[in-house]
Amino acid sequence: MMFKISKKNFQNYVDFLIGKYEVWGPKKIGSDYVFSKLNNGQEFEDVRTVLSPKDLIYPPNEKLFEDNFKEIIVLGVKSCDYRAFKMLDDVLGIDSNYSMRRRVVHMFNFVCTEPCKFGFCTTFYGPRLEEYEMQFTDIGDYYLIETNDLRFVNDLFEKASDDDLKIALEKSKNVYKKMQKLNMDKLSEKIGWENPLWKEFSQRCISCGACNFACPTCFCFDVYDENDRYREWDSCILAGFSKLAGNANPRPTLDLRLRQRFLHKLKFHYENFNYYLCTGCGRCIEICPVNIDIRDVIRSVNP
Ligand code: SF4
Ligand code: SF4
Repeated sequence: MMFKISKKNFQNYVDFLIGKYEVWGPKKIGSDYVFSKLNNGQEFEDVRTVLSPKDLIYPPNEKLFEDNFKEIIVLGVKSCDYRAFKMLDDVLGIDSNYSMRRRVVHMFNFVCTEPCKFGFCTTFYGPRLEEYEMQFTDIGDYYLIETNDLRFVNDLFEKASDDDLKIALEKSKNVYKKMQKLNMDKLSEKIGWENPLWKEFSQRCISCGACNFACPTCFCFDVYDENDRYREWDSCILAGFSKLAGNANPRPTLDLRLRQRFLHKLKFHYENFNYYLCTGCGRCIEICPVNIDIRDVIRSVNP
């Protein structure tokens, strides 16, 4: 079903949602936009944030076996991040905390109409979704709204026409025109265990783990007990990640850990699930202090 809402009424719609639910969205905090709880419609901005909303479903540190999860709405989710949750579902979907939150956290997708600086989503799935709860596209003075779920429909919505949809499709095509698409042809088969980039990257990488922690598709974690059982994110770049009993470590050097990071995304996960563990969001590229770039790995295999 298609509707539209004027930009003037959009803030009132957010206020309406805030009256019924806890609502989160990109909000300016200092000089950055961060997914935060919104107090009113004016605080929402339709921008791509430095970090994805992954932590709203899969927090960096959490007590396990909880059973009390709040229904919340997250506005301003980008298609790359929405797809990342679909990927996480394949791995974490059997976990009770994760799957409970997936049920009660509603993600409202906002289509990108301009490419972001480091993103390469057109290499994978592009800026629009085929499956969504609510999908909003900026079509000028209005947002086009696509939904199959009438729960969040409001009197402020107007009927949308096929012409409105045409404008929305044209706007998202803009991203395809301006963004370079990488060649993924048989990449998982062609990418070898040996690549001179692992050594080269290891001379620059400072093992901060930021690439893992900013990535919406990274899911590795550690578990510890402190009266209760807790889970916290881990990073395959950190030296202790693969440490075994007796201090054995199959990946003792940084080049081997970097290889693991890239091969997991571009080979192993593909072999297991038939898709790359990457949405092309570009966050790992943007956040890396020494400019290590996953696109260079892809181009080294398929120039
Ligand atoms: S590997 Fe990088 S570009 Fe791909 S999903 Fe993770 S952060 Fe985004
Ligand atoms: S963000 Fe860059 S420097 Fe930090 S661990 Fe990742 S690759 Fe290394």
